[in-house]
Amino acid sequence: MDLNTVEAVHIPTHRDEVWPLGPADAILAGGTWLFSEPQPAVARLVDITNLGWPPITTTADGIELAATCTLDEVATLSRSLPRVWSAAPLFRQCCTALLASFKIWRTATVGGNICLSFPAGAMISLCTALDATATVWRGDGSGYTMPVAEFVTGEATNVLEPGEVLRSLHFPAAALRARTAFRKIAPSPLGRSGAVVIGRRDEDGRFVLSVTAATVRPHVFRFPTTASPSAVRAALSAIPEQDLTRDAHGDPDWRRAVTLTLAEQIRAELA
Ligand SMILES: Cc1cc2nc3c(=O)[nH]c(=O)nc-3n(C[C@H](O)[C@H](O)[C@H](O)COP(=O)(O)OP(=O)(O)OC[C@H]3O[C@@H](n4cnc5c(N)ncnc54)[C@H](O)[C@@H]3O)c2cc1C
Repeated sequence: MDLNTVEAVHIPTHRDEVWPLGPADAILAGGTWLFSEPQPAVARLVDITNLGWPPITTTADGIELAATCTLDEVATLSRSLPRVWSAAPLFRQCCTALLASFKIWRTATVGGNICLSFPAGAMISLCTALDATATVWRGDGSGYTMPVAEFVTGEATNVLEPGEVLRSLHFPAAALRARTAFRKIAPSPLGRSGAVVIGRRDEDGRFVLSVTAATVRPHVFRFPTTASPSAVRAALSAIPEQDLTRDAHGDPDWRRAVTLTLAEQIRAELA
């Protein structure tokens, strides 16, 4: 769609050229959402895809994804990661939770998905399940790092202050060495996710369960060892009613019920 209020497009190639950012400026990454609906408040686009950020950096400590890494590039990790990182399948599985054509996959970025902060944000599911942290840049040259599970605060809301830019996501090696199990359910076969539940069993036996899409912000439950069905049920019952997603893609009571069912499947699979 043409954004007919946009008067300028700025394409920085260095960090210090990104700012200043004003209230009528929008960060442009893949543009798959930005160009999908009218943006009457936007007069200038700041395209961050020419900053030269390497999309994927792998070290012994884990993986860093640039915010501008595309979903297509994220999905390749399921094939290319060393075998010791047994969580590798999760990268592609989470990309498939965002049902879109190959054109969207090749354009949409991990950062754009997280900054939109929709309940069905598939990259939020991925990052939350693997304890990823987000690094944010500020215009004054400073920045901060925090868990993605805390970055998203509600339906299309997050911690970003005006003028802040998500730079990268870091996945720790310890989580990448875990065994994982993934479940997604949607009311229609090609529909937006109603619930995404992911389990992780770490090398030290800890069990981590993350719930997204069913809830407006990520919920992560940690168990010191194999959890019983009743322990999982008790943990999930702590999700407050107001945190269940209410939209056309599933009623809140359905979301709570399917989350319990999927969590039990995952618990049994990873026990
Ligand atoms: C067919 C189709 C299916 C889709 N399905 C889903 C779905 O299932 N779940 C879902 O969550 N979304 C979905 N989307 C919405 C959207 O396309 C994706 O969330 C996508 O990942 C957004 O990434 P992008 O790079 O295109 O973001 P953009 O459209 O470029 O930007 C999105 C928003 O994030 C801001 N932004 C982008 N990058 C940064 C950054 N680094 N720092 C600060 N702000 C930033 C932008 O200013 C804008 O407000 C779908 C879209 C289409 C067209």
